[in-house]
Amino acid sequence: MRLISYLGDEGESRLGVVEGDEIVDVTRHVTADGAHSGLSPMRMLLALPGSPADNVGSLDGERLPLGSVRLAPVVPDPPKIIAAPVNYRDHQAEMMEDYHIDALGIFLKATSSVLASGGTVRLPYSDRRFDQEGELALVIGREASHVPVDDALDYVAGYTMLLDMTMRGGEDRSTRKSFDTFTPIGPYLVTTDEAGLPDAMRLRTWVNDDLRQDADVSDLIWDVPRLIAYASSVMTLQPGDIITTGTPAGIGQVADGDRVAVEITNLGRLEIDVSDRGAVACPTKGASRGPKPPDTVTPVRER
Ligand code: MN
Repeated sequence: MRLISYLGDEGESRLGVVEGDEIVDVTRHVTADGAHSGLSPMRMLLALPGSPADNVGSLDGERLPLGSVRLAPVVPDPPKIIAAPVNYRDHQAEMMEDYHIDALGIFLKATSSVLASGGTVRLPYSDRRFDQEGELALVIGREASHVPVDDALDYVAGYTMLLDMTMRGGEDRSTRKSFDTFTPIGPYLVTTDEAGLPDAMRLRTWVNDDLRQDADVSDLIWDVPRLIAYASSVMTLQPGDIITTGTPAGIGQVADGDRVAVEITNLGRLEIDVSDRGAVACPTKGASRGPKPPDTVTPVRER
């Protein structure tokens, strides 16, 4: 099942199931008891016991053409966005990093940085470098604390794509990756039964017409179960939490007017524009510190 969040006539967040070129509005199936909870319908769905498919009813809601709705970030209000630093060896190599996730652990991105597919990433500064990082992300469907690796996939509601937009330099990761619009996510949440296993997925990222990233998710240093098990040993995972798994080689600078797209097997296409409108001089001085990104994009390997 493919679930989306989209905006209703009053700007409110709604929940839809994608069927071909149409979406079925299933908002009322999940909001009956929580209409005034302040949570998005997607969050309410993920918080219900049982599978998303069991909880969206018989798909008898209003049908709308998929192209006619304005998408929202697929989880508009995640409790947490947990991210993996340096989780592919080829990305470790291109950054000349001494350490990978084994030494670095995980970090958090601000939840206010989410952006819908089709939206515009706003570069905040005119004098700093900003890069794209295409990543596989998963959405947690059940509260999880100290879960064993072997059980970890039972806590996943589904998979989606995420662009971990990044300012290069020596400031803390939580600063460099948390600017508003720096976490495009979507377009769909694809439930685990339809998405298949992460190890079978291929990830590709384009900037305009250039293929920059082309990787097998099976090359992750810490795979999805290990990442969930570890994250759940640090902090309790809640329904709606997003865990993004890290980026492979091929990161590179983006600039005003660029269009960035990510595709992952079975997950569709996430696409955003980049704008530097309103950019100002950066008030911090981290530009010459931190891991050194490559001057040119690491070429994708032939396959
Ligand atoms: Mn990343």
